[in-house]
Amino acid sequence: MTKVTRFAPSPTGALHIGGVRTALFNYVYAKQNKGKFLIRVEDTDVERSTKEFEKNILNGLSDIGINPDEPPVRQSERSELYQKAVEKIIDSGNAYYCNCSKERLDQMRAAQQSKGLKPQYDGKCRNLNLKPDSSTVLRLKTPKDGELIFHDLVRGEVIFQNSELDDLILLRSDGSPTYHLCNVVDDFEQGVSTVIRGEDHLSNTPRQIHIQQALGYPSLEYAHLPMVLGQDKKRLSKRNAVTSLQDYFEKGYLESSLINMLARLGWSKGDKEIFYLDDLIDDFRIQEVQKAGAIFDPAKLDWINNHHLAALSFESFKDRLIPFLENAGINYNLKDNSNEIIEAMRSSQPTLLGVAKDLIPYFTQIDSYDEKAANKFLKGSEAVLEFVQRKLNGLEAWNEGSIDHALQEAQTALSLPTPKLNQPIRIAMTGSTQSPSLGLTLSLFDLAEVNNRIDAALKYLANTD
Ligand code: GLU
Repeated sequence: MTKVTRFAPSPTGALHIGGVRTALFNYVYAKQNKGKFLIRVEDTDVERSTKEFEKNILNGLSDIGINPDEPPVRQSERSELYQKAVEKIIDSGNAYYCNCSKERLDQMRAAQQSKGLKPQYDGKCRNLNLKPDSSTVLRLKTPKDGELIFHDLVRGEVIFQNSELDDLILLRSDGSPTYHLCNVVDDFEQGVSTVIRGEDHLSNTPRQIHIQQALGYPSLEYAHLPMVLGQDKKRLSKRNAVTSLQDYFEKGYLESSLINMLARLGWSKGDKEIFYLDDLIDDFRIQEVQKAGAIFDPAKLDWINNHHLAALSFESFKDRLIPFLENAGINYNLKDNSNEIIEAMRSSQPTLLGVAKDLIPYFTQIDSYDEKAANKFLKGSEAVLEFVQRKLNGLEAWNEGSIDHALQEAQTALSLPTPKLNQPIRIAMTGSTQSPSLGLTLSLFDLAEVNNRIDAALKYLANTD
């Protein structure tokens, strides 16, 4: 049977990286089975759903390359289907109208709780054969005895006692269908074969299976994914991590890195760490997903992004970097050797934003020095700056090799440890102590600019005490 999966976000918030992982696993499972991946917007909660969130979710998925095989559907546009399904359940005798007041339900729940029982509808209206009116809700006649057992691709056999399950409301008193009903009807109508979703939905599954059975729908495959946790082992949220996909794009993480990182949240393949989408389609096995919560480690994402950035051709790297350079106010066309500078700096930071920031001093004048670095290395370095400046001006050829040689000679002549010689020059050239090897750094500028920057550092030293 063709596998059909779906990602069913509720547009009540921006696309969250936990959600992207659910979408990814659905996508990969469908693709590796030559099936279909669908998106369904679950926007029945009109109070909390917005078009902006819907747009944010759909655009985010498309930005990361998780595209559905059919246009997304919206629950808000499918009420006829739910209405028909409700009629079918009523005709089958598997549902009943209930007119219990809120007060009665509250009292009943309080009484159950005071006896230490799980609050649950007591079935008062189950056999009253009430007719619908503006005060009635429609409830599912859930079997009261026995067990509901289903097989979960991640968790194995899952068992619920029917006695623990409520007579679920299918239609509210205003006639609107509830979340569980819509979810079940849509999975059937969209031809879904496999429901892959977060473990937070596990307790919904037996309820939804009862609705399915009442409607005579075929059963589905299920996989409930472990929750994504922050470093503090609590459920991932804005409090313990950056959760919005857009924020990761804005920092310059590649889509492929995010996919790689998300795939590893709860799944692994030996000690292989670097995966692209195509590898996942080959290698991923839903049955190998772990049950325990998966901790999201931002340092690991940096490490992965470093790898993915390094694997890009220079041209692709530069294409991806350009928007970040422009945002950083860098006009890279102004320099003849801009490619050389970018190449020298491309692994300086794990993100494109970081690399662009590091490139600023190579393309624009520096107007300040990192204070800590200046206090530690620049202060008192006048003699070193002047000596090295003289040596550099005496060079016949201006390239990394000849500059390295001059620096070596200066170090021997002044008998200084490397940082004492290199760091003042590095700070004069870039404003901080972070740069590639000093010979390479200097070679990225012409001699006139080196002189300007060393002169500026000497002037700064003359004006500070
Ligand atoms: N709409 C639900 C959510 O956003 C998902 C429901 C499902 O996958 O079945 O959590």
